[in-house]
Amino acid sequence: MKTDVKSLTFDELGARLDDLAQPRYRAGQVFAWLAKGARSFDDMTNLPKSLREELAEHFAISPPALLRKQTSERDGAVKYLWGFDDGNTVESVTLPYKHGNTVCVSSQAGCRMGCAFCATAIRGLSRNLSASEILDQVIFSGAELGARVSNVVLMGMGEPLDNFDNVLRFLRIAGDGRGCNIGARHISLSTCGLTEKVDKLGDFNLQLTLSVSLHAPDDETRSRLMPVNRGVGVDNLFDSVRRYYEKTGRRVSYEYALIDGVNDSVSQARLLAGLLAKSGGHLNLIPLNCVPGLAFRPSARERVRAFEGALRERGVNYTFRRRLGGDIDAACGQLRGGEIQTQKSERL
Ligand code: SAH
Repeated sequence: MKTDVKSLTFDELGARLDDLAQPRYRAGQVFAWLAKGARSFDDMTNLPKSLREELAEHFAISPPALLRKQTSERDGAVKYLWGFDDGNTVESVTLPYKHGNTVCVSSQAGCRMGCAFCATAIRGLSRNLSASEILDQVIFSGAELGARVSNVVLMGMGEPLDNFDNVLRFLRIAGDGRGCNIGARHISLSTCGLTEKVDKLGDFNLQLTLSVSLHAPDDETRSRLMPVNRGVGVDNLFDSVRRYYEKTGRRVSYEYALIDGVNDSVSQARLLAGLLAKSGGHLNLIPLNCVPGLAFRPSARERVRAFEGALRERGVNYTFRRRLGGDIDAACGQLRGGEIQTQKSERL
């Protein structure tokens, strides 16, 4: 079995090249080529041919296949469908913001969290992505875009904290200045609220932005929408967020998709305001995005207005977020990956 070279940190790659009796600067060259999207060792033209051959014997690069690319007519968001060698597919999205290009990446093929309103949940979890498969979405989405990617959000398919080790490895590799150079301050990680993993993440004291998908302030509604809440509860979630803040000094942000008649009542807005007053942190309200086959709808305008009014009355800081990519099903919660059978034939 060849080693998946893009899942190695810089130091691990250096150690492996030491074993091959190569000077240290070679690790820098290889690491930089990989971050630039090299598809094979033969692309690495500043390495001697004999070394390229030797590397190809020990290491695999295996870039994903780009199976589909859709561009939003409305806002310039681009959605990519990537296929891996085992037939699994994931989607990533590039978002052209004023402050730079952001890539939204998937951390798992599928998801097992079962949120009732989310397209990714429908087919369950296929498998975790490796660090290199997460990194590839950054590298090759950027290459397709032809522009530098300055920010990454782990808000695509999957629950990043359910794939903890690979996601952490991805963060270390992506943040390395000798490669992609996307540091933690330019990365957001969104979680449905796995409290033990939030605690564990806090211990690493990273400077990333942690975003919690809240979507309901009361246990009854949240447990109905998000099975992860059952047996844990909103209070425990907020306790773990408080510990996270104490460890890292980083405020957490909250995502709240307004769902008509489900989580958008004035009394829920008041409960939400109470939770936020205790914990601090920024609230992002988003309109629910429709998912074919699911009955949930975005809140009617007057319900949104009343909800926002109740938040403002209590001095809650919030942003009503623009949603990009809605016309190509690339907005939050709409990523579902491809059809695995058709994908195999497309690869031939
Ligand atoms: N599993 C992680 C990462 C996914 S990020 C998490 O739950 O945070 C995707 C974001 O889109 C999450 O905030 C998720 O709750 C939200 N989302 C899912 N389905 C949605 C929908 N139909 N409309 C709007 N947001 C949705």
